[in-house]
Amino acid sequence: MGQVEKGRIAFMEKKTYVLLENYMLSCMDDSAHDSGHIYRVLYNALEIARTEKDVDYDVLIAACLLHDIGRKEQFENPALCHAKVGSEKAYGFLVEHGFEADWAGKVRDCIRTHRYRQSDLPQSLEGRILFDADKLDVTGALGIARTLIYKGIVSEPLYSLLPDGTVSTGEGDSSPSFFQEYKYKLENVYESFYTVRAVQIAKERQHTAVEFYECLYREVSRLYLDGREELDKYIYEDFS
Ligand code: FE
Repeated sequence: MGQVEKGRIAFMEKKTYVLLENYMLSCMDDSAHDSGHIYRVLYNALEIARTEKDVDYDVLIAACLLHDIGRKEQFENPALCHAKVGSEKAYGFLVEHGFEADWAGKVRDCIRTHRYRQSDLPQSLEGRILFDADKLDVTGALGIARTLIYKGIVSEPLYSLLPDGTVSTGEGDSSPSFFQEYKYKLENVYESFYTVRAVQIAKERQHTAVEFYECLYREVSRLYLDGREELDKYIYEDFS
């Protein structure tokens, strides 16, 4: 089995898509990286690809579908990197199902380099599109919603309190919370894209995330400030 070339564009055969989709579905089971995430990454990638030249759609679609199949292994053993594990799993699956090693290797490279790191950066156009498409799912309302779901699953709070009892913005916090994640990751994701289209999409979504964070911070910090002042009126210490 291999790719079909129509003009300069490599398409994917329907039965290949179904095979990879079913394999992906059998591997997914955490809510922040459920199959919804995979389809959004795939559709983000297709939107980015429309603005790029000579995209190998066969490689791109396969890499998008399979990019997070190593999540379960990383969840069970946090020392493992899901991008690395997933890339090898994908390669093994593809070769086992009769795809050419060269093609499977291109898919493997995209998956291995899709995670944000200082080294082993994506080299191919398809790898860069996958990287951007994956990061776009951390932007805007979606990024907020996914983070809140995840924080709920791992039972982490929305925010932490500072030693003086006020609500922390999340900046520099050592204990995990939604605000900490926002300051550490969500706020900074907007600068790290390879493609022009991804930067545009991210910028369009950014204000929603910023506004949500700022509204939530204002609401809770005001409550703590006013609420504690009000509470003090009704609490007395008996020194007798
Ligand atoms: Fe992902």
